[in-house]
Amino acid sequence: MAEPLGLGAEGIAAAVASGALAAVEVVNAALARAAEIEPRVSAFLRLDPDGARRRAEELDRRRQRGEPIGRLAGVPVALKDNLALEGDALTCGSRILAGYVSPFTATAVERLLSAGAIPIGRTNLDEFAMGSSCESSAAGPTRNPWDLGRVPGGSSGGSAAAVAAGCVPLALGSDTGGSVRQPAAFCGVVGLKPTYGRISRYGLVAFASSLDQIGPIAASCRDVALALESIAGADPRDSTAAALGPPDLLTGIEDGIAGRRVGVIAEIGTAGLEPDLLAVWHAALDRLAALGAEIVEVSVPSIAAAIDVYYVIANCEASANLARFDGVRYGRRASGARGLADVYFDSRSEGFGPEVKRRIMLGTFALSAGYYDAYYGRARALLEQLRAELARAFERVDLLATPTAPSGAFALGEKLDDPLAMYLSDVFTVPANLAGLPAIAVPAGLDRRGLPLSLQLLARPFDEGGLLRAARALEVATGWRLSPELRDASATV
Ligand code: GLN
Repeated sequence: MAEPLGLGAEGIAAAVASGALAAVEVVNAALARAAEIEPRVSAFLRLDPDGARRRAEELDRRRQRGEPIGRLAGVPVALKDNLALEGDALTCGSRILAGYVSPFTATAVERLLSAGAIPIGRTNLDEFAMGSSCESSAAGPTRNPWDLGRVPGGSSGGSAAAVAAGCVPLALGSDTGGSVRQPAAFCGVVGLKPTYGRISRYGLVAFASSLDQIGPIAASCRDVALALESIAGADPRDSTAAALGPPDLLTGIEDGIAGRRVGVIAEIGTAGLEPDLLAVWHAALDRLAALGAEIVEVSVPSIAAAIDVYYVIANCEASANLARFDGVRYGRRASGARGLADVYFDSRSEGFGPEVKRRIMLGTFALSAGYYDAYYGRARALLEQLRAELARAFERVDLLATPTAPSGAFALGEKLDDPLAMYLSDVFTVPANLAGLPAIAVPAGLDRRGLPLSLQLLARPFDEGGLLRAARALEVATGWRLSPELRDASATV
């Protein structure tokens, strides 16, 4: 990766703090890289060169005056377009929000800004974060920088692609059922979904409020840790944010995993995985063992139902959350509607894409009188069972390991007409959301086509420290480095 972006968030912030680099130089490098790759990758919905340069110049002036500039000083970042930033458009990749400008800033974004990070643009996503391929965006798909014929994963596909393509060392995504981790896996970068409540959701457009978390995506575990330290912590504006201060994650991150117990879930059917993924999965477990971890088999029988439970609960919550987009209060209103009912009907019919409509209808159906107990009630009961089983597993182990996704990046269009196949790419990621546990996706190797594959680790609630230590040990042992040669070679495919 070209200097200075190759320094990563930690390196850039140190260089800017010492005066070795000006924030403006860094931001210009990020914008130049974005201009170079965007015609091929389309990671961004909008770039904001003027705003980014203005913030960078202001930061450089503050440094010259000797004022504090923050732990992410001068670090260019990309923000998923479902995070509010005052005065900026917020589309969620949907037509229905065309013309909407956010009147306030999300807490996580506000904290990034006060740490000195500089947003260079807003990244593409599946419409309202519903999807696993970044193809359901009204703006069209993002492409995987490793292979332009493939998807970057979703829904935070733009954020993962922007990091993988070397435009920014750090991006924010959101994860309701895997949307930070699965695109991180497909793009060969690190993505962390924190414990439910670790990061305030204030200013994150709600999809399924009991599952949603904001999460950082970066090229290394250290940068993910730094980002999480900067944005986590209690927030009076979100009562589901835990009453905890910011975690200390970088101290001890290099301490390794000797003596830690890592559980492998007996009921997860890894035998049916494609051979390359299976080989990388076994190699990752061998590496963990070589690093001194003890690999233990644990039983979590309800894990087999997790994907069904997720798609009932997530759709039910989505159908309620998306009721507010009615053509009256937010964004686009259908023209020519006669009467209020028509405004609602026409605005929603024209504004939402097919996947969002499918989810609203499924969720509304599952919540309707007569079906509520059979679907929502049953899903909640199974969810409690899954939580209890996972809690029991964590009495025996410190971490759980699974592949992050059941395959590497698939081809554009491959699953677009088959929602069930698309939903199944979340089979390993949804349990962490259902149980509120922290989970990380860390690159574990390449398949024979040169595409990245990833390992997922889960930990006990609020043990992001343990999670990052283990992921970091694996990252170092794998010798993973996001390599520009790879990206550029694949980008010409
Ligand atoms: N891919 C999953 C879905 O479509 C998860 C989305 C997410 O985490 N936002 O619901």
